[in-house]
Amino acid sequence: MTDHSALDGNAAAGAFAAVFGADVTTVIVTCAGCHASAPFAEQAAYLGSPGTVLRCPGCDHLLARVVETQTELWLEMSGCASWRFPREARD
Ligand SMILES: [Zn+2]
Repeated sequence: MTDHSALDGNAAAGAFAAVFGADVTTVIVTCAGCHASAPFAEQAAYLGSPGTVLRCPGCDHLLARVVETQTELWLEMSGCASWRFPREARD
Protein backbone atom coordinates (compact mmCIF):
# COMPACT_ATOMS: atom_id res chain seq x y z
CA MET A 1 0.00 0.00 0.00
CA THR A 2 1.59 3.21 -1.14
CA ASP A 3 -1.23 5.67 -0.63
CA HIS A 4 -4.13 5.51 1.74
CA SER A 5 -6.39 7.05 -0.90
CA ALA A 6 -5.85 4.20 -3.37
CA LEU A 7 -8.92 2.21 -4.32
CA ASP A 8 -8.88 -1.14 -6.07
CA GLY A 9 -9.17 -1.36 -9.83
CA ASN A 10 -12.91 -1.92 -9.76
CA ALA A 11 -13.28 1.78 -8.97
CA ALA A 12 -11.63 2.66 -12.29
CA ALA A 13 -13.35 0.00 -14.38
CA GLY A 14 -16.24 2.18 -15.52
CA ALA A 15 -14.04 4.87 -17.04
CA PHE A 16 -11.92 2.33 -18.93
CA ALA A 17 -14.96 0.31 -20.00
CA ALA A 18 -16.27 3.50 -21.63
CA VAL A 19 -13.15 3.58 -23.80
CA PHE A 20 -12.93 -0.10 -24.68
CA GLY A 21 -16.64 -0.87 -24.81
CA ALA A 22 -16.00 -3.98 -22.78
CA ASP A 23 -15.60 -5.06 -19.18
CA VAL A 24 -11.99 -4.56 -18.21
CA THR A 25 -11.91 -5.95 -14.67
CA THR A 26 -10.56 -9.33 -15.80
CA VAL A 27 -7.99 -7.92 -18.23
CA ILE A 28 -4.45 -8.93 -17.25
CA VAL A 29 -2.40 -5.74 -17.11
CA THR A 30 1.39 -5.97 -17.21
CA CYS A 31 3.32 -3.08 -15.68
CA ALA A 32 6.02 -1.57 -17.89
CA GLY A 33 7.95 -0.59 -14.77
CA CYS A 34 8.33 -3.84 -12.83
CA HIS A 35 6.73 -6.26 -15.34
CA ALA A 36 4.28 -7.60 -12.77
CA SER A 37 1.04 -8.93 -14.23
CA ALA A 38 -2.27 -8.79 -12.40
CA PRO A 39 -5.96 -8.41 -13.18
CA PHE A 40 -7.20 -4.87 -13.71
CA ALA A 41 -9.41 -5.24 -10.63
CA GLU A 42 -6.32 -5.76 -8.44
CA GLN A 43 -4.47 -2.65 -9.63
CA ALA A 44 -4.53 0.56 -7.60
CA ALA A 45 -7.00 3.22 -8.72
CA TYR A 46 -7.04 6.94 -8.07
CA LEU A 47 -10.04 9.01 -9.08
CA GLY A 48 -10.02 12.68 -10.02
CA SER A 49 -6.26 13.15 -10.03
CA PRO A 50 -7.05 14.32 -12.77
CA GLY A 51 -9.11 11.78 -14.60
CA THR A 52 -9.10 8.13 -13.61
CA VAL A 53 -5.62 6.78 -12.94
CA LEU A 54 -4.46 3.19 -12.66
CA ARG A 55 -1.20 2.50 -10.83
CA CYS A 56 0.81 -0.65 -10.18
CA PRO A 57 0.29 -1.73 -6.56
CA GLY A 58 3.78 -3.22 -6.55
CA CYS A 59 5.95 -0.32 -7.74
CA ASP A 60 3.48 2.62 -7.95
CA HIS A 61 4.23 3.04 -11.67
CA LEU A 62 1.49 4.93 -13.53
CA LEU A 63 -0.09 2.27 -15.73
CA ALA A 64 -2.86 4.10 -17.53
CA ARG A 65 -5.15 7.07 -17.30
CA VAL A 66 -8.49 8.08 -18.77
CA VAL A 67 -9.50 11.73 -18.84
CA GLU A 68 -12.97 12.74 -19.99
CA THR A 69 -13.42 16.20 -21.48
CA GLN A 70 -16.43 17.79 -23.15
CA THR A 71 -15.31 16.51 -26.55
CA GLU A 72 -12.90 13.62 -25.91
CA LEU A 73 -12.16 10.47 -24.02
CA TRP A 74 -8.39 10.67 -23.66
CA LEU A 75 -6.56 7.42 -22.97
CA GLU A 76 -2.93 7.28 -21.87
CA MET A 77 -1.47 3.81 -21.40
CA SER A 78 2.25 4.26 -21.90
CA GLY A 79 2.97 2.70 -18.49
CA CYS A 80 1.68 -0.72 -19.52
CA ALA A 81 3.68 -3.41 -21.23
CA SER A 82 0.49 -5.17 -22.31
CA TRP A 83 -3.21 -5.69 -21.73
CA ARG A 84 -4.52 -9.22 -22.20
CA PHE A 85 -8.27 -9.37 -22.79
CA PRO A 86 -9.73 -12.79 -22.02
CA ARG A 87 -12.17 -14.18 -24.55
CA GLU A 88 -14.15 -17.29 -25.18
CA ALA A 89 -12.07 -20.13 -26.54
CA ARG A 90 -12.60 -20.72 -30.26
CA ASP A 91 -12.77 -24.06 -32.02
ZN1 LIG B 1 4.97 -2.21 -11.40
